Amino acid sequence: MPAEPAVAAPDLDRLVAEAEALIDRAVRAHSPAALACSFGAEDMVLLDMVARAKSPVAVFTLDTGRLPQETYDLMQTARARFRGVAIETYFPNAASVESYVRENGVNGFYDSVNLRERCCAVRKIEPLKRVLAGKKSWITGLRREQSATRSAIAPIEWDAANGLQKVSPLAEWSDADVWAYVKRFDVPTNALHRKGYPSIGCAPCTRAVEPHEDPRAGRWWWENADTRECGLHPRAKAGA
Ligand code: SF4
Repeated sequence: MPAEPAVAAPDLDRLVAEAEALIDRAVRAHSPAALACSFGAEDMVLLDMVARAKSPVAVFTLDTGRLPQETYDLMQTARARFRGVAIETYFPNAASVESYVRENGVNGFYDSVNLRERCCAVRKIEPLKRVLAGKKSWITGLRREQSATRSAIAPIEWDAANGLQKVSPLAEWSDADVWAYVKRFDVPTNALHRKGYPSIGCAPCTRAVEPHEDPRAGRWWWENADTRECGLHPRAKAGA
């Protein structure tokens, strides 16, 4: 994703209206609803929508303990900007992290896909399941054009792994749409976007990408493209 490109987004009004309607529909039909916020540009758009509409959505973030300083800085900025929204932070189970590090080392995730997935399971998946327990839907910033693994996502689909509806109001949005929204509503964004990071995760597992590269090419860049998901978003079936 280019940093705040000066590209027109002629469909922005329609896209915003449809995204807001989808969030409203999710809240009405599948409550309690939660918004997963990792403080990337897409999630900041959704956070702004939820804040403007005062939607009864539980906003949460997963602090893996390995996030970039820029993400922590944005967390603090968002806390001041969106005072009406309680952004809950969830941490991994300390004993599980200690066990992983004892067995594999603090950077053991570089050694194999299996060890990388186990690290994500400890630092992301277990806390996510804890948050989503009892929820009927979760709202995510997934977009189809982000990567091959996300090219078929539906605005609402059944998330069998977590047993709830997964709602992706930005599924159809382009990079330009996201940044046009950011500009129109003066939404704060992660400083790493301006340093060539279109997709931002844990610091040791994310790098900047070249303009011609896939937007998620900087995530787990040492692996094959078809393994580059952390398990938060396994493929799901289209649903209501
Ligand atoms: S992205 Fe990297 S550091 Fe973060 S949980 Fe996954 S493997 Fe661990």
